[in-house]
Amino acid sequence: MSVRDLHSFWEWGRKIICVGRNYAEHARELGNPLPGAEPLLFLKPPSAYLRPGSAIRPPRYSRRLQPEVELGLVLAKGGSSIPQEEAMGYLGGYALCLDMTARDTQEECKRKGHPWTLAKAFDCSCPVSDFIPKDKLPDPHRLTLWLKVNGQLRQQGHTSQMIFPIPHLISYISGIIRLEEGDLILTGTPAGVSDVQEDDELQADHSCTLQTAKDLPLIPAVHHWTQEFQHKSNLRPSHSAPANKPILDPIAKLPWFP
Ligand code: MG
Repeated sequence: MSVRDLHSFWEWGRKIICVGRNYAEHARELGNPLPGAEPLLFLKPPSAYLRPGSAIRPPRYSRRLQPEVELGLVLAKGGSSIPQEEAMGYLGGYALCLDMTARDTQEECKRKGHPWTLAKAFDCSCPVSDFIPKDKLPDPHRLTLWLKVNGQLRQQGHTSQMIFPIPHLISYISGIIRLEEGDLILTGTPAGVSDVQEDDELQADHSCTLQTAKDLPLIPAVHHWTQEFQHKSNLRPSHSAPANKPILDPIAKLPWFP
């Protein structure tokens, strides 16, 4: 198992691998097709990490920032082509994460057939909670995730609704990208994503509780564990842009973008 301190994985972990459209309701709300036989992957760099209490700054080319609350998997040891039946043994624990998304930019990327890097990998795009040791969440497929903005519930979903469960994700990803100790895997977001505005306060939580999604039976709490983290968003661009100037084609405005 891990020889380094996973409690500070964001300081030394080398990769953030993200799974898109892993909850059917979320894919539908954005008008996206469901993934096929294999998960949809994209990456964030370690420079995307942000700790609770910090301001989230959007990239200068975006006017439409959306948080996606997700369960993060923290690897305790590395491996390639990990069999599904062994996958949980590679996990050291979890973190509650926000996959911050420049939605206007992502829509532009999709329209042009470009990669999602500008929409997903910018600085501050991966706020993470404290590390949650594996034994604190005995069944990570029985968690409720939620996100509130200014105290108002925006997202709520249950990890049992993942299209590809955790062992499948670890096995699939490790067959393509060698996983390493301290790597983080974002497992996708439930429905309810929406825009945030300047000075909005983002609050996310997860719990093993009696409350689940409407279509699921009540699940007895095997372990009650909540963790909360808060972020204050700051939607002032990191590079000042003229006020009230509509951004109609943000990507095309970047001089270095083809
Ligand atoms: Mg996401």
